[in-house]
Amino acid sequence: MKKYWRLISLSALLIMTVLTLSACSSSISKKDVLTEDMRSQRITWGVKTDTRLFGLENIRTGKLEGFEIDLATALTKKILGPNGKPTFVPVTSGTRVPLLKNGNIDAIMATMTITPERAKQVDFTHSYFDAGQSLLVRKGSPIKNINDLNKRGAVILGVAGSNSVKNVAKFAPKARVLQLSDYAQAMTALKSKQGDALTTDNGILYGMAAENPGYEVVGGNFTKEPYGIAVNKNQERFRKKLNWALKEVEKDGTYNRLLLKWFGDVKGFNYQEMKR
Ligand code: GLU
Repeated sequence: MKKYWRLISLSALLIMTVLTLSACSSSISKKDVLTEDMRSQRITWGVKTDTRLFGLENIRTGKLEGFEIDLATALTKKILGPNGKPTFVPVTSGTRVPLLKNGNIDAIMATMTITPERAKQVDFTHSYFDAGQSLLVRKGSPIKNINDLNKRGAVILGVAGSNSVKNVAKFAPKARVLQLSDYAQAMTALKSKQGDALTTDNGILYGMAAENPGYEVVGGNFTKEPYGIAVNKNQERFRKKLNWALKEVEKDGTYNRLLLKWFGDVKGFNYQEMKR
């Protein structure tokens, strides 16, 4: 009898947990992000915090700095007005989609390429930055391009959850790809000679080369990586507003000013080509 009651109470607990969880997930999917953000005067952005030029935590000031941080701030002001404020939540290539889906962030602005595969899970705005995948190697390395890595024994470093690790497996199928959890770790692995090259987008690699003068970007771009802002499905009002705000910052010169601020001095990077 005791056993019987225990079974009933356990099943009741299970049913209640399932009901609470489904209520939570449906309230996340039903929440109108734009309405809530206008009410709170805040947009919560998932951003990179270890990626120089895009989103990097300045350890002296504790502030986040980069093109995406400035762009997200400008879009927040366009959408919410001058009193609107951005909130930044650190994401990695692997955590950004789960954090969006859980409702922890409203939007991802984190060097994220628009791909048809990802568009099944999230919705994207127009592209706001045209990157391409490339390679970072130690200066003087025999690796000059992606073909040089397509051999047995070659090790390529990348980050889990990035498009880059998938692409490189197609371009250099004979090489082994080692996946680290973020770009800071991938750079440490390159420095400790655990791989022959680090692969991701050119802009990110130029940021790494700027802080590590013994390394250089080689081989040009072997893919096209247009970055988009990702939002949850069924947030069409919010996505449209973001697209509108992106057009506004392009029209009023903010976009080109930010491009010049972050990429104007980056060696090897043609910022003129990226102007809008
Ligand atoms: N743009 C690529 C991607 O979306 C690589 C950069 C990143 O890991 O965020 O996966």
